[in-house]
Amino acid sequence: MMAEVAAYVCSHVFNNTRPVLLVSRAGGDWQCLCGGDHEVGEVPNVVGLNHLMERDVTLREIINLPDDWEAERASQKDPWIRRRGQAED
Ligand SMILES: [Zn+2]
Repeated sequence: MMAEVAAYVCSHVFNNTRPVLLVSRAGGDWQCLCGGDHEVGEVPNVVGLNHLMERDVTLREIINLPDDWEAERASQKDPWIRRRGQAED
């Protein structure tokens, strides 16, 4: 079995009040966010990526997203749009 992969999530995704609409692999981590605004200084929560994918099977479509890429969609019914992330230099 694969080891559990950790994903950083915003408070909305953590509390399941908004769907994941923005996935970032900046620095090789998985960040699964709602794409909305957050309080300054919000501390991300960590959950298992597989649990997110059980909750929302459409996340499986971006399981092969490379490091430093991100994927965004307008809603859970819209397709993922992938793009290479911003260079950090
Ligand atoms: Zn959020």
